[in-house]
Amino acid sequence: MDGGWSAGRALRKPVMGLVVAGPLVAVGYAIFALWNRMVGWQDIALLTTIYLLVGLGVTIGYHRLLTHGSLNARRPVKIALLILGTMSIQGRPISWAANHRLHHARSDREGDPHSPNLNRNAIVGFAHAHLGWLFQRGQAADEGRWARDLLNDPDVVFINRLAPVWFLAALVIPFAIGGWSGLLWGGLVRISLTHHATWSVNSVCHVFGSRAFSPKDQSRNHWLVGLLALGEGGHNTHHASPRSARHGLRWWHFDLSWVVICALQEVRLIRDVYTLDAQDLKRALQTKASGVKVALRHRLPQETRQTIAAVAD
Ligand SMILES: [Zn+2]
Ligand SMILES: [Zn+2]
Repeated sequence: MDGGWSAGRALRKPVMGLVVAGPLVAVGYAIFALWNRMVGWQDIALLTTIYLLVGLGVTIGYHRLLTHGSLNARRPVKIALLILGTMSIQGRPISWAANHRLHHARSDREGDPHSPNLNRNAIVGFAHAHLGWLFQRGQAADEGRWARDLLNDPDVVFINRLAPVWFLAALVIPFAIGGWSGLLWGGLVRISLTHHATWSVNSVCHVFGSRAFSPKDQSRNHWLVGLLALGEGGHNTHHASPRSARHGLRWWHFDLSWVVICALQEVRLIRDVYTLDAQDLKRALQTKASGVKVALRHRLPQETRQTIAAVAD
């Protein structure tokens, strides 16, 4: 969803190439190693655990909490979620949120940083939405305009500033636990899988899948992306009601992030969780009020409300 990198212009393409291709090469090597029985249960456990934790950092921390203000979390939980999100190596939290707010405001229209539907060639459009946009200049959203509230949040700014430390932690932690094979599986392979799960929300979920609602864009729900991206596959439902912390409507709409949000709310680590049930959502769409505007009734810090209201208009 994001790729706001601070590297200089000249370094942007080689750095992005390394970030995208490095983990992919590692996946290739990992498959080779697997065939040679070089993978153990510890590697698989490390990969799964870090994939889930970092994935939830992206879906709950970066996306639902930071970008859409769908919930509030106790300070240590918020900091932990955002650090985990940063370990996805998808860019710093503020640029990620700014780009994603811009995506919602201009979905599949001119100005959308990663729509697959603005290009005449379907394959090129898909590749652009998946990762091509990360390499293009001028695609990043203006943080001062799209994330003003986040720039005024000292905790978010602190985590944002130290992003390179968390990027490094994504490699150092699995290495410290599992040595070189831990680095390969829990580090590089995990990074690549997280990348493509998130990027599939931008590409697959704007081309393939079903449409429960009809917001003015091509967003779609896709069950497989929902499975791999921990619930983010309910993307059409999400576009119809961006402020809802739940991306499914029925019990069979798999949304692991929502299950974790409910559990954390139960133990009072998360509060002010905003959701729209199916009735509310249908009513909102019938009256042509966007889900975002309906969601503004929910009590959130004034500045967050103002920023999101500006995005919604
Ligand atoms: Zn979208
Ligand atoms: Zn969103």
